[in-house]
Amino acid sequence: MALQGDVREHLTALAAAGAAAGPVRRPEELAEVDGLVVPGGESTTISKLAVLFGLMEPLRARVRDGMPVYGTCAGMIMLADKILDPRSGQETVGGIDMIVRRNAFGRQNESFEAAVDVKGVEGGPVEGVFIRAPWVESVGAGAEVLAEHGGHLVAVRQGNALATSFHPELTGDHRVHGLFVDMVRACRAAESL
Ligand code: GLN
Repeated sequence: MALQGDVREHLTALAAAGAAAGPVRRPEELAEVDGLVVPGGESTTISKLAVLFGLMEPLRARVRDGMPVYGTCAGMIMLADKILDPRSGQETVGGIDMIVRRNAFGRQNESFEAAVDVKGVEGGPVEGVFIRAPWVESVGAGAEVLAEHGGHLVAVRQGNALATSFHPELTGDHRVHGLFVDMVRACRAAESL
């Protein structure tokens, strides 16, 4: 999703994970893809631009239909069914039965990196880059927690929707994108049966 945020970094990570990735800005582009990444950036801006570009409703429909989506940081906020402290006019796509707290880990200058074990990612912890990152306050019955940091939930999956508080696209480690690309491949294979 190329409305705002660290789009280029995600395109690079997706390509490294074996996907044919391109930017999605318009509903016609959304209709063509098998999966979508919602990048890190500023969730209120992404939300408002999604409405402005006519992407919000078609995206909600595709997520409801089971299209794989992956959100990092601001993208995680976009995939939450509920935000604890939304700014005015801020909407989400939803898809994961979770409540997120924006900027939960503090301000920009409190950004940090930490090793995070992510369920489903083999080969040891990933380097989690947290930048004004949200955390997940709570998850509903349908959502699976994939990672915690400092007692807070930082990676969650529900069906074909994946979200991390941190930014694997800013590291050279593409294993989380690999997990997502595998989800997209599995979904495509199931649809072509
Ligand atoms: N704090 C930002 C927000 O609320 C997210 C920051 C990020 O994506 N790095 O949208």
